[in-house]
Amino acid sequence: MTHVEQRLSPLLFLWLFMKSLTRAAKDKVLADLDMKRPNLDGSYNQNQSATVKQLLHYVDPIPVQQRCLDVLNIFIEDKSLFTAPVINDNNVPVGLIDRGRLTEIFFKPYARDLHHRKLIGEIMTTDPVIVDINTSIDDLANITINAGMRHMANGFIIVESSAYVGMATGHKLLEEITQRKQQDLYFLAHYDQLTGVPNRLLFKDRLMQACQYAKRSDKPFALVFVDLDRFKQINDTLGHSFGDQLLINFAHRLTSSVRESDTVARMGGDEFVIILQNLTEAGHAEKVAATIIDNIRLPMLIFDREINVTASLGVALFPLHDDTVDGLIRKADAAMYEVKAKGRNGYIVYSEVYDQCLIERSSLETDLRMALNNQELSVFYQPQIHLPSNRVIGVEALLRWHHPKRGLISPGTFIPIAEESGLILAIGAWVLHEACRQHVEWVSQGLPLLRMAINVSAIQFRQKEFCACVKDVIEGTGIDPSYIELELTESVVMTNPLQTVATLNELRALGIKLAIDDFGTGHSSLSYLTRFPIDRIKIDQSFVRNIQDVPANEAIVKAIIAMGGSLGLEMIAEGVETVHELECIKNHHCQEVQGFHFSKPIPAGEFKDYWHQSLRKD
Ligand code: C2E
Ligand code: MG
Ligand code: MG
Repeated sequence: MTHVEQRLSPLLFLWLFMKSLTRAAKDKVLADLDMKRPNLDGSYNQNQSATVKQLLHYVDPIPVQQRCLDVLNIFIEDKSLFTAPVINDNNVPVGLIDRGRLTEIFFKPYARDLHHRKLIGEIMTTDPVIVDINTSIDDLANITINAGMRHMANGFIIVESSAYVGMATGHKLLEEITQRKQQDLYFLAHYDQLTGVPNRLLFKDRLMQACQYAKRSDKPFALVFVDLDRFKQINDTLGHSFGDQLLINFAHRLTSSVRESDTVARMGGDEFVIILQNLTEAGHAEKVAATIIDNIRLPMLIFDREINVTASLGVALFPLHDDTVDGLIRKADAAMYEVKAKGRNGYIVYSEVYDQCLIERSSLETDLRMALNNQELSVFYQPQIHLPSNRVIGVEALLRWHHPKRGLISPGTFIPIAEESGLILAIGAWVLHEACRQHVEWVSQGLPLLRMAINVSAIQFRQKEFCACVKDVIEGTGIDPSYIELELTESVVMTNPLQTVATLNELRALGIKLAIDDFGTGHSSLSYLTRFPIDRIKIDQSFVRNIQDVPANEAIVKAIIAMGGSLGLEMIAEGVETVHELECIKNHHCQEVQGFHFSKPIPAGEFKDYWHQSLRKD
C-alpha cells in the first residue's frame, strides 16, 4: 500500500464493505430477475422440443415368421388397418406390410394357391422409416423428405432402445407440422422477435380487451409507458449486440416485476408498455411503478459486463384519465416524457398539464434541427482560475441556445434531445470549431494563450471520424493544439476501454489534452483511470457544494486530491460558489477552480473585458 492509500484506508474499507453488502443482494436479485424467463406462450415453447412421441399410436406388430394368408385375414377383419410393422423374435422391427402390397399380390387369380405358404418376411417392405421415440418432429420431417415421400403414406415405425413401441402416420406428422407453422406464424405476427414479449399489435388487442373488461366489471386498470434511459447512447457506444441483450434483460426485468396476468409489450426501440389489470386499491399502479424503477436500477450483467441502467415511466389510469385505447396511450406517453424532461429515472402519473409539455418537446426537437442553420447556438465561456497566481488560466466552452420564442435554453434541457436525435454530432462539431476559432481570435486580439476546455458527448467520441474531425478543426482554425482540452465523462472512458485507449492515444498524438469531467459521479476508481492517458480530473460540483459543512464531501475531495496528486494528475474543482467553499478547497491544496464565485459562463465579448479587469485586481 502506498502512503496515500494507507491514509485513505478507513474510507476505502467503508466503501469495500458497502460494496460487498450490495454484491450479495445483487447476486440474489440478478438470479431472481434475469434468470426467470417470461411465460410467453406455453405451447410454442413445448413445440420447440416436440418429439415423435407425440405422434405415437400402437399397432399390433406381425412376427416375421407369420404366413401371408394369416396376415391377409388380419387386414380383412380390421378395415381400419392400413399398415402394420413386422418384427423379429426380439421385438425389433425388420419391415412393414401395408394393405396396398397385400392387395397387389392376392388380387391376382390363383394368388391364394400360389402364395399361401409364403411368410410375411418374403413380401414385406424392407426399408421402412424407423425412428427413435426421442427423435424431434423436425428431424422426422427431414428423414421423410430424404427417404422419399411414399413413407408419408406408409407411416413410420417408432422404437425405444431399438425395440418396437408403436407407429406414427404421415397424416399425423403433416397435421402436427401445419399446426406448428400456424403457431409460428401467430408468434411472428404477435410477439416481438428479440425479447419474446407481445408486440404492438397484440398489445393493442389486449388493451382493447382490458378496456372492455374494465367497463363490464367496473374495475380500473393502468397503462404504463416505459422508456429505457439513454438507450441510444448505450447502443452507440457499446454496440448493437450489447444493446439487443440489454433490451432482452430489460424485458425480463419488467415481466418479473408484474403479475403474470399483466401484459408487458414492446412498442418498438426501447419503448415498452405495461397493462396493469384489476387494480384493487388506490395507489396500486404507483406502487408497481416504484417497484419497477427499483428493479431496473439494480446492476445488470451483460456479456460479463456490469451495467447500471434506469428507466422513465408514465402512468395513465382507466377510466380516470381516459377510457379509449388511443387516449390512454397518448396520456401515458405524455407522462413518460415529463419524467424524461425532469431528469429521467422515475415515474409520473398523468395530469392534463403534461399534454402541453409533450407538444413542446416535439417542437423543441424540430426547432433544434434548425437552430444550427439559423445561428441560434452560441458558445459561452467560463473562466478557470489558477489559485497560487490568482490568474485566469483557461476557459470552459459551454453551449447556449437562444431560442427565438423561448429565450435562452440551457444545455441540460437540449443536449439530451440532441443526443437522442443524433443532432449532437453536427452540434458537437460546430462547438469544437467555434471554440477553437474564438481562441485564435482572442490571441490575435492580444489575449494570452489560455486553455480551451471543450465538452465532448459520448456519441461524438464513439464516432469513427472523431479524431479526423478534431484534426480538421486544428488545421482549419490554426489553433495551437496544446491549448485544447477535451472533457469526457467517466462513463465514456470506462465503456469499451480498449477502443477508448486507442482513441485517446490518437487524440494525444495530435497534441491535445484530455480531462475527466464530473469526476466522482461515475463508477470508476481513480487508479483504474490512470490506465488511460488523462491529464486532468475535474472534481464534480456536487462534492464542492457546502464542502465546509459536509464532512463526507470534504473527505471525498481530500481523497481525490491526495490520490490524483500521487498519480501525477492535474486537478480542478468545479462549481465553487462561495468564499467558504473556495477556502476549503484551497486548504486541500487544489490548484485550480471554476465556478460562479469567479464568474458565470459569459459570451466571448464579455470574456475579453473580464480578462482585462482580472489583471487590474492585482
Ligand atoms: P459541465 O461540463 O460539468 O459544465 C459545468 C456546468 O456547471 C455548466 O452548466 C456551468 O454553467 C455550471 N456551473 C459552473 N460553475 C457553477 C457554479 O458555481 N454553480 C453552479 N450551480 N453551476 C455552475 P451548463 O453550462 O448549464 O452546462 C451543463 C452541462 O451541459 C455541462 O456540464 C456539460 O455536460 C453539458 N454541455 C455544455 N456544453 C456542452 C457542449 O458543447 N457539448 C456537450 N456535449 N455538452 C455540453
Ligand atoms: Mg464540462
Ligand atoms: Mg462538470
